[in-house]
Amino acid sequence: MLAGIDLGGTQVRVALARSDGRLVASIKTRTHLLPTAQAMVDWAAAEIDRHRGREKVKGITIAAPGPIDLKRGVLVNPPNLPWQNVPLVAMMGRATGANVHLANDADMAGLGEFHHGAGRGTKNMVYITWSTGVGGGLILDGKLHRGAHGTAGEIGHMIIDPNGPLDKCGQRGCLEAFVGGRALAGETGHAAVELFAAAARGERHARTVVERAARHMGTALISLTNVLDPEMFVIGGGVSRSWALVQPTMLETLRSSPFIKPARRPRLRRARLGDRAGQVGAVEWARINQ
Ligand SMILES: [Zn+2]
Repeated sequence: MLAGIDLGGTQVRVALARSDGRLVASIKTRTHLLPTAQAMVDWAAAEIDRHRGREKVKGITIAAPGPIDLKRGVLVNPPNLPWQNVPLVAMMGRATGANVHLANDADMAGLGEFHHGAGRGTKNMVYITWSTGVGGGLILDGKLHRGAHGTAGEIGHMIIDPNGPLDKCGQRGCLEAFVGGRALAGETGHAAVELFAAAARGERHARTVVERAARHMGTALISLTNVLDPEMFVIGGGVSRSWALVQPTMLETLRSSPFIKPARRPRLRRARLGDRAGQVGAVEWARINQ
């Protein structure tokens, strides 16, 4: 069997699957109930043990927020988790005896959408998670593209205006500094969820802010199209719940490029797997690497 673990700031999810990738169990708990990384490992190992029956679990992928050290299998210092420099691969390996991989959570969500969600049937797909921050996963020629250091797909840190606001990464004018939920909340003084709700009610200022964010995202889609030539963009994350508010402007912006002719213009789709994308992709990664 195989398992995928999605380590999020709010929830930790575990999925168990047969070696062909078919899911047999899916369990979740709240992250704050697991005070230490060891507690998380113990909980996940116990759940895997409880649901595996008599089968052996051979491969496990842990999807974690960056930065992660892929070579050493270490979770470095994720902004939404209280754990630092945790050798997760070694710890999970000891607890389960399985072959453990660590992977970037946005990569795994993208892989999940590619194999089982909105991106099924494509070969070149860009997944974008648009939430508090902005992340991405690149599927090129049917494969997850991780880059030389495993950090490919940092779409949120594409610079769209070198004179723009300072991002928390240290660069100026990153996409995330313009459209990330944290940046929008900082700018408007309202939580991003409230901002999008106000825009949905038709409040003028909120609408303007959301529309501008969607236009910036559309600009990023133009650049990504020119560099990667994908068939499809799949947008997930919290903002994708407000699809009707952001999709028309993103599409209009993408269509406004005279350089990207209709024949090569990618389709724009909302993610389908919701919060399950990460665990589904993690199982898929364990299957691919078994
Ligand atoms: Zn940045």
